[in-house]
Amino acid sequence: MEEYDIAVIGGGPAGIMAAIVASRNSKSVILLEKNPDLGRKLLMTGGGRCNITNLKPIKKLLNFYPQKNFLKHSFFTFTNEMLLSFFEDKGMNFIEEDDNRIFPQSEKSGDVLKVLIDYLDDVVISYNFEVKNITEDFIINDKIKANKIIIATGGVTYPHTGCNIKNYYLTSQPVTDIKYGLSPLITKKDLSDIAGITLYDVVISYNKNKVKGNVLFSHVGLTGPGIINLSNVISESITYNLLDGEALDVNFEISIDLCPDFTREELNEKFTSDFQVKGKTMLKNYLKRFLTNGFIDFFLNEINLDGETQLSRVNKKSKNRLIENLKRFAFEITGFNKDLSKVTVGGVDLANVNPKTMESTITPNLYFAGEVLDLHGPTGGYNLQIAFSTGYLAGLSAGEK
Ligand SMILES: Cc1cc2nc3c(=O)[nH]c(=O)nc-3n(C[C@H](O)[C@H](O)[C@H](O)COP(=O)(O)OP(=O)(O)OC[C@H]3O[C@@H](n4cnc5c(N)ncnc54)[C@H](O)[C@@H]3O)c2cc1C
Repeated sequence: MEEYDIAVIGGGPAGIMAAIVASRNSKSVILLEKNPDLGRKLLMTGGGRCNITNLKPIKKLLNFYPQKNFLKHSFFTFTNEMLLSFFEDKGMNFIEEDDNRIFPQSEKSGDVLKVLIDYLDDVVISYNFEVKNITEDFIINDKIKANKIIIATGGVTYPHTGCNIKNYYLTSQPVTDIKYGLSPLITKKDLSDIAGITLYDVVISYNKNKVKGNVLFSHVGLTGPGIINLSNVISESITYNLLDGEALDVNFEISIDLCPDFTREELNEKFTSDFQVKGKTMLKNYLKRFLTNGFIDFFLNEINLDGETQLSRVNKKSKNRLIENLKRFAFEITGFNKDLSKVTVGGVDLANVNPKTMESTITPNLYFAGEVLDLHGPTGGYNLQIAFSTGYLAGLSAGEK
């Protein structure tokens, strides 16, 4: 049997970072990865460009995570700026895009992975090694004995990258309900006619939850940053658990405020005046100042208004229907587009993990890092920062003791 100080399970960003940091204190570290290569999901990030982090100041950044109190210690131990320096030390440069999103200057996620692998010099890597069982005295698959174990097996989305729901059963730690996050939504209505059209800076609501952002129509439903960020909030608030192995059957409504810059009263005032002054203008042409062009016909059709009607002929009832739908245009949702869900909502229960070390409070010497934990953030570089910061802290703590 091979023996190591530390075994890290999972060669994604969290596990790689944990292994690098754990090996710094002359500890013998083995990284076990079930695939023949490392970082398959990392390669897909940011559409292959890797939105590696978000450069908002840490205090502000933390406000974007539902689990900000848990993350505080790891984020201050290994900040977004420290993460960039870690890569810059190996000659990598970065660019900043809107909303503080950071990408490698080369715009290649493969370059991020190369640097990580470059740091792994002191780590033994075992590829094609799928961990299937861990005994109470830390014997892995009857082959490897470790003093400490760091679990960084990721979540459930994009299973071909190596994730597997069975991983939650590798140890007997309590796990919260497992759900889809950062996911497009499937609509009951066929939206093929408007697929490819984007609504910019609209406000999307699910019950009392609101998210401002862009909505992109697809052939099967709704996507775009606004929708996928809202999907996290929806998953948090509805009850289902993929660990139950049951087919997910959801049905709920979301609505879009298509004119968030105007109140209903302001729209009413404006329409009352404009419909007189510009009486000869056709309704569909008038709406161009409020709505994306390619969306207008669909919208008017849905609310049973004729776009060719002249404004002077739009009666009060129609005007009210128009205002109501501009402020609250509803879609019936029948599911998450799970094949495109980017993160997992839920995971190893944080109540049993010490946020200052990432060590289990139930099983000493067992650590967790990355998406396997009940941690998630919005789109924009927030999720890789979770992987790197918690991976760093887990490696540091396991390597220190
Ligand atoms: C399409 C897509 C795009 C994304 N884009 C971004 C982005 O631009 N920015 C961002 O911040 N986040 C992004 N994310 C999210 C981000 O990729 C994840 O949050 C991150 O990869 C999680 O890292 P991890 O190391 O915890 O898990 P993973 O990256 O999933 O790594 C887990 C590793 O563990 C291995 N493994 C699993 N089970 C076992 C086992 N039993 N034995 C051995 N090995 C095992 C897997 O093969 C895998 O290599 C994206 C996700 C997707 C799917």
